[in-house]
Amino acid sequence: MDQRKRIAIYGGTFDPVHLGHLEIGRRVSQFFVIDEFLFMPARVAPHKVGQEAASALDRYAMLALATQDEPRLSVSRFELDGPGQQYTVDTLAHFRASCSELDELFFVMGADSWAEITTWREWQRLVTLANLIVVTRPGHQTFIEDFAGAASQIVDLRGENDPATFEPVEVEALKIFVTDAVMMDVSATAVRRAARADDEEELKRLVPPSVADYIRKYGLYRNTNEA
Ligand code: ATP
Repeated sequence: MDQRKRIAIYGGTFDPVHLGHLEIGRRVSQFFVIDEFLFMPARVAPHKVGQEAASALDRYAMLALATQDEPRLSVSRFELDGPGQQYTVDTLAHFRASCSELDELFFVMGADSWAEITTWREWQRLVTLANLIVVTRPGHQTFIEDFAGAASQIVDLRGENDPATFEPVEVEALKIFVTDAVMMDVSATAVRRAARADDEEELKRLVPPSVADYIRKYGLYRNTNEA
């Protein structure tokens, strides 16, 4: 029996989780035949210090509500329970060391995060610990040409999303996959803006009902002062 498991870790601030994040969880799980898809909310996102609008507890609670009815999607408390600022490279090293050697690890990110990858702590080591899955995002270019240092690892899967021709993606050596399996123009910034404006309709378009209810009930994002 094949004991190999595919584990995907999806890091982010999730302030709050939105329908784009959830669709990424579903589609990436399907496309890459992932057994365990873990949303990994950051305790303090190193590159977003000072911008956080909801507490870690609230961000976690909304992720838990949003994934409650989705058997393949879970939320990890690993970074939230850590002693302080946690870097992705350390999280991946931990999971690499603690899961079976046969298990395959994937780290999921959007095109905007990918564009900044070279500013991440020990990014060259990061791409030796897990496969990356870069998801295209409307309004953001996905840079793959001339990519410093890791060009040979890149597998461009854009355009290969037709369910009729769908085949599970096979992985041998560590890769950086680029996929347009999800193309949703949704952002947490837009959710916070809709909450601040008390725009029920817009909120419904961006987050699942349980998250909209939570935002309303606890009055989140009322006083954020971003543009
Ligand atoms: P904000 O608007 O506050 O910047 P966000 O919508 O980008 O937030 P994050 O929690 O920062 O949400 O995102 C976590 C990860 O998911 C990042 O790698 C980001 O690039 C990716 N991501 C978020 N929304 C999308 C989307 N609609 N399409 C593709 N990737 C996305």
